[in-house]
Amino acid sequence: MSLNIVHNGLLTRKKYIQLLDPNLELDNVTRDARFFSTFNAGYLPATLRANFYMYLNNYTKLNSQISKFDLNINPMCSLCIANNIANPENESLRHFITNCVPFDNYITPIYNILVPNSSLLEKKIIFCLGFDTPNNSYNILGNTCTLLLFNYILFRRRSKFIAQPEQTRDFILSHLDMLQSNSIAT
Ligand SMILES: [Zn+2]
Repeated sequence: MSLNIVHNGLLTRKKYIQLLDPNLELDNVTRDARFFSTFNAGYLPATLRANFYMYLNNYTKLNSQISKFDLNINPMCSLCIANNIANPENESLRHFITNCVPFDNYITPIYNILVPNSSLLEKKIIFCLGFDTPNNSYNILGNTCTLLLFNYILFRRRSKFIAQPEQTRDFILSHLDMLQSNSIAT
Protein backbone atom coordinates (compact mmCIF):
# COMPACT_ATOMS: atom_id res chain seq x y z
CA MET A 1 0.00 0.00 0.00
CA SER A 2 1.22 3.48 -0.79
CA LEU A 3 1.63 5.38 2.45
CA ASN A 4 1.16 8.94 1.27
CA ILE A 5 -2.58 8.78 0.72
CA VAL A 6 -5.72 9.22 2.75
CA HIS A 7 -6.97 5.64 2.92
CA ASN A 8 -10.02 4.09 4.54
CA GLY A 9 -8.11 2.90 7.61
CA LEU A 10 -6.98 6.44 8.34
CA LEU A 11 -10.42 7.88 7.65
CA THR A 12 -12.00 5.39 10.07
CA ARG A 13 -9.52 6.11 12.85
CA LYS A 14 -10.01 9.85 12.32
CA LYS A 15 -13.77 9.36 12.41
CA TYR A 16 -13.56 7.78 15.87
CA ILE A 17 -11.61 10.78 17.18
CA GLN A 18 -14.03 13.21 15.55
CA LEU A 19 -16.90 11.44 17.33
CA LEU A 20 -15.19 12.62 20.54
CA ASP A 21 -14.51 16.15 19.26
CA PRO A 22 -16.05 17.10 15.88
CA ASN A 23 -14.03 20.33 15.71
CA LEU A 24 -10.58 18.74 15.69
CA GLU A 25 -8.46 19.33 12.59
CA LEU A 26 -6.73 16.01 11.92
CA ASP A 27 -5.53 16.18 8.32
CA ASN A 28 -2.00 14.89 8.62
CA VAL A 29 -1.03 12.26 6.10
CA THR A 30 2.66 12.45 7.06
CA ARG A 31 1.78 11.57 10.61
CA ASP A 32 -0.17 8.53 9.40
CA ALA A 33 2.68 7.44 7.11
CA ARG A 34 5.00 7.51 10.11
CA PHE A 35 2.44 5.59 12.21
CA PHE A 36 2.07 3.03 9.42
CA SER A 37 5.82 2.53 9.15
CA THR A 38 5.76 0.92 12.63
CA PHE A 39 4.27 -2.09 10.87
CA ASN A 40 7.58 -2.51 9.01
CA ALA A 41 9.72 -2.54 12.14
CA GLY A 42 11.67 -5.78 11.68
CA TYR A 43 12.74 -5.88 15.31
CA LEU A 44 9.17 -6.68 16.38
CA PRO A 45 7.60 -10.18 16.24
CA ALA A 46 5.67 -10.74 12.98
CA THR A 47 2.40 -11.61 14.75
CA LEU A 48 2.39 -8.33 16.64
CA ARG A 49 3.12 -6.41 13.45
CA ALA A 50 0.40 -8.26 11.53
CA ASN A 51 -2.18 -7.47 14.23
CA PHE A 52 -1.19 -3.82 14.08
CA TYR A 53 -1.44 -3.76 10.28
CA MET A 54 -5.00 -5.06 10.60
CA TYR A 55 -5.76 -2.29 13.07
CA LEU A 56 -4.30 0.46 10.88
CA ASN A 57 -6.41 -0.70 7.94
CA ASN A 58 -9.54 -1.18 10.04
CA TYR A 59 -9.59 -4.93 9.31
CA THR A 60 -9.59 -6.07 12.96
CA LYS A 61 -12.63 -8.22 13.65
CA LEU A 62 -14.11 -7.85 17.12
CA ASN A 63 -17.15 -9.43 18.75
CA SER A 64 -19.81 -7.28 17.07
CA GLN A 65 -18.58 -8.46 13.65
CA ILE A 66 -17.58 -12.03 14.63
CA SER A 67 -21.01 -12.69 16.16
CA LYS A 68 -22.62 -12.18 12.74
CA PHE A 69 -21.08 -15.38 11.42
CA ASP A 70 -20.57 -17.30 14.70
CA LEU A 71 -23.73 -17.45 16.77
CA ASN A 72 -21.74 -18.73 19.77
CA ILE A 73 -20.01 -15.35 20.09
CA ASN A 74 -21.54 -12.72 22.31
CA PRO A 75 -21.44 -9.38 20.45
CA MET A 76 -20.88 -7.41 23.64
CA CYS A 77 -17.54 -5.92 24.67
CA SER A 78 -15.19 -8.48 26.26
CA LEU A 79 -13.36 -5.83 28.25
CA CYS A 80 -16.59 -4.39 29.69
CA ILE A 81 -17.88 -7.90 30.54
CA ALA A 82 -14.60 -8.84 32.26
CA ASN A 83 -14.82 -5.64 34.28
CA ASN A 84 -18.50 -6.13 35.23
CA ILE A 85 -19.68 -2.99 33.38
CA ALA A 86 -23.50 -2.93 33.29
CA ASN A 87 -25.18 -3.16 29.85
CA PRO A 88 -22.03 -3.23 27.73
CA GLU A 89 -22.16 -1.97 24.15
CA ASN A 90 -21.25 -4.24 21.28
CA GLU A 91 -17.51 -4.74 20.92
CA SER A 92 -15.90 -2.72 18.14
CA LEU A 93 -12.96 -0.39 17.76
CA ARG A 94 -15.43 2.49 17.73
CA HIS A 95 -16.71 1.37 21.13
CA PHE A 96 -13.15 1.04 22.50
CA ILE A 97 -12.26 4.56 21.41
CA THR A 98 -15.50 6.33 22.23
CA ASN A 99 -17.15 4.60 25.18
CA CYS A 100 -15.19 1.85 26.96
CA VAL A 101 -13.94 2.60 30.48
CA PRO A 102 -11.71 -0.52 30.69
CA PHE A 103 -10.05 0.50 27.39
CA ASP A 104 -9.34 3.95 28.87
CA ASN A 105 -7.77 2.23 31.88
CA TYR A 106 -5.50 0.16 29.60
CA ILE A 107 -4.16 3.08 27.60
CA THR A 108 -3.78 5.59 30.45
CA PRO A 109 -0.73 4.23 32.33
CA ILE A 110 1.52 3.87 29.31
CA TYR A 111 0.70 7.27 27.79
CA ASN A 112 1.12 8.85 31.22
CA ILE A 113 4.75 7.71 30.98
CA LEU A 114 5.23 8.74 27.33
CA VAL A 115 3.23 11.99 27.41
CA PRO A 116 2.93 13.15 31.02
CA ASN A 117 -0.09 15.34 31.81
CA SER A 118 -1.85 14.43 28.54
CA SER A 119 -5.65 14.41 28.60
CA LEU A 120 -7.62 11.26 27.82
CA LEU A 121 -8.59 12.77 24.44
CA GLU A 122 -4.91 13.44 23.64
CA LYS A 123 -4.10 9.83 24.56
CA LYS A 124 -6.83 8.57 22.23
CA ILE A 125 -5.58 10.79 19.39
CA ILE A 126 -2.12 9.25 19.83
CA PHE A 127 -3.59 5.75 19.92
CA CYS A 128 -5.60 6.38 16.72
CA LEU A 129 -3.20 8.53 14.71
CA GLY A 130 0.28 7.97 16.11
CA PHE A 131 2.86 10.25 17.65
CA ASP A 132 3.48 13.66 16.12
CA THR A 133 6.43 15.33 17.84
CA PRO A 134 9.45 17.12 16.29
CA ASN A 135 11.67 14.26 17.53
CA ASN A 136 11.31 11.35 15.11
CA SER A 137 13.19 8.90 17.34
CA TYR A 138 10.62 9.62 20.01
CA ASN A 139 7.80 9.13 17.49
CA ILE A 140 9.21 5.70 16.62
CA LEU A 141 9.50 4.72 20.28
CA GLY A 142 5.99 5.99 21.02
CA ASN A 143 4.44 4.27 18.00
CA THR A 144 6.19 1.03 18.97
CA CYS A 145 4.58 1.33 22.39
CA THR A 146 1.18 1.88 20.74
CA LEU A 147 1.71 -1.27 18.65
CA LEU A 148 2.47 -3.23 21.83
CA LEU A 149 -0.49 -1.63 23.62
CA PHE A 150 -2.88 -2.57 20.83
CA ASN A 151 -1.64 -6.17 20.94
CA TYR A 152 -1.97 -6.26 24.71
CA ILE A 153 -5.61 -5.18 24.46
CA LEU A 154 -6.23 -7.88 21.81
CA PHE A 155 -4.67 -10.55 24.03
CA ARG A 156 -6.64 -9.46 27.09
CA ARG A 157 -10.01 -9.46 25.32
CA ARG A 158 -9.58 -13.18 24.54
CA SER A 159 -9.27 -14.08 28.21
CA LYS A 160 -11.46 -13.56 31.23
CA PHE A 161 -8.46 -12.30 33.10
CA ILE A 162 -8.80 -8.69 34.25
CA ALA A 163 -5.49 -6.92 33.86
CA GLN A 164 -4.46 -4.16 36.18
CA PRO A 165 -2.92 -0.99 34.69
CA GLU A 166 0.52 -2.00 36.02
CA GLN A 167 0.35 -5.23 34.00
CA THR A 168 -0.28 -3.29 30.79
CA ARG A 169 2.76 -1.19 31.53
CA ASP A 170 4.87 -4.25 32.43
CA PHE A 171 3.92 -6.00 29.15
CA ILE A 172 5.13 -3.02 27.14
CA LEU A 173 8.25 -2.32 29.17
CA SER A 174 9.33 -5.98 29.10
CA HIS A 175 9.00 -6.01 25.28
CA LEU A 176 11.01 -2.82 25.04
CA ASP A 177 13.72 -4.42 27.23
CA MET A 178 13.74 -7.43 24.90
CA LEU A 179 14.05 -5.17 21.83
CA GLN A 180 16.89 -3.27 23.43
CA SER A 181 18.84 -6.44 24.27
CA ASN A 182 18.20 -7.78 20.73
CA SER A 183 19.55 -4.61 19.15
CA ILE A 184 22.62 -4.69 21.39
CA ALA A 185 23.21 -8.35 20.49
CA THR A 186 23.15 -7.70 16.73
ZN1 LIG B 1 -16.04 -1.99 26.46
